[in-house]
Amino acid sequence: MKFWFIAGSQFLYGDETLAQVEQDAKKIVEGLNLPWPVEYKITAKNATEITNIVKQANHDDECAGIITFCHTFSPSKMWINGLCLLQKPWLHFHTQFNKSIPNEEIDMDYMNLHQSAHGDREHGFIGARMRMQRKIIAGYWKDEETQRRIADWQRTAIGALFSKNLKIVRFGDNMREVAVTEGDKVEAQIKLGWQVNTFAVGDLVEEMNAVTDAQIDALVEEYRTLYDFDEKDIEEIRYQAREEIAIETILVREGASAFSNTFQDLHGMRQLPGLATQHLMYKGYGYGGEGDWKTAGMTAIIKAMYPNGSTSFMEDYTYDFENGLILGSHMLEVCPSVAQNKPKIEVHPLGIGGKEPPARLVFEGKAGDAICISLIDMGGRMRLIGQNVICVKPTQTMPNLPVARVMWKPMPNLITGSECWIIAGGAHHTVLSYDISVETLRDFARIMGIEFVNIDANTTPAALEKELMLGEVIWK
Ligand code: MN
Repeated sequence: MKFWFIAGSQFLYGDETLAQVEQDAKKIVEGLNLPWPVEYKITAKNATEITNIVKQANHDDECAGIITFCHTFSPSKMWINGLCLLQKPWLHFHTQFNKSIPNEEIDMDYMNLHQSAHGDREHGFIGARMRMQRKIIAGYWKDEETQRRIADWQRTAIGALFSKNLKIVRFGDNMREVAVTEGDKVEAQIKLGWQVNTFAVGDLVEEMNAVTDAQIDALVEEYRTLYDFDEKDIEEIRYQAREEIAIETILVREGASAFSNTFQDLHGMRQLPGLATQHLMYKGYGYGGEGDWKTAGMTAIIKAMYPNGSTSFMEDYTYDFENGLILGSHMLEVCPSVAQNKPKIEVHPLGIGGKEPPARLVFEGKAGDAICISLIDMGGRMRLIGQNVICVKPTQTMPNLPVARVMWKPMPNLITGSECWIIAGGAHHTVLSYDISVETLRDFARIMGIEFVNIDANTTPAALEKELMLGEVIWK
């Protein structure tokens, strides 16, 4: 994927200035050190050029977004027709070729060339006037912080495009009677692009039966390089490998990047996929338990934004009121990308679901700043909630709890943070990500046109209630 750089100008200043604008724009592009390449495309000088470049950007599958910058003044009425057509994420990069004002060199020619301070304000007006969803980043192009923010925006744009093409496989339906895992799949497709469809568990079982011993041997060897385990558990581990290969076969066949299943619909399967699901998440697939396709989708998107990051499906389980902490885990399915130590594969009974004891990865989550993310369906609209948390080394060893576990302090603290989460309607399932920032998550919601609610160190229940009340008017 690439990002297109479009410099805005006009014919007023003559060929010499336009040549200089082009040269400077190319230098800026070369000077950007970002996760995805930026390509200088054009110094746009009239409505036809702008409309044409926007049309090309829309239809180029490798173009992930456009970056615009007005080195000189570029009258915005020229931009209206083009921007009306824009379908790709847009970054208005408000920078300037020179960092400071040269005392001797500055004259009227210099002023005519280096006028992004007002050229970009004209450009900003039309974005505001047209009510366009765009990201604005101001800053000198060589500055590290400026480039870091552009890199984050790139991830947002990549995530948005990934979302628009995301397919989610549901093995079985949602867990019976649960509300928050339900949702309007048509609305999700309109807003987020997700194609969420069901596939029969019986077909998965058929696929499992077709898995060969050689395939299982190869996957178990991969497990051996990443995880510790006892040879006595090998049969259960091999069964999980069989499940993993079958699930992935269907995901690949369907072009899907996320899946959900439920322990209430495993007809014909001996174990709930535990290790299988955990290792699939490790490879980058999104997952949501109990049919939670919304959390599965968000997990996949954040993993696509941060390919080698630390992001997992998560569930709030139990509180430590004494230390103001939440113990997060799941029956089995926590991604080893958040592990502090080398995970160990263990086999234990589940207690619910009535299946054989499944093999699963057991580990402690690592310490660090993270965000818990929940996408909920408010009826008529989607709400994305992100709460800042600080993950800590678990305060206890919990030797009799054979699951992966993470402990964190929610912002602003356990009591207020939990109240705010519940006021906002956040689910008990989340995506826990050590990678994404609030700004990036907010940018993602803006591109997708959905509501975003952040709970951070400064959030109070009263202010949040007011924000949500206003949201009822805005997002109706
Ligand atoms: Mn759950």
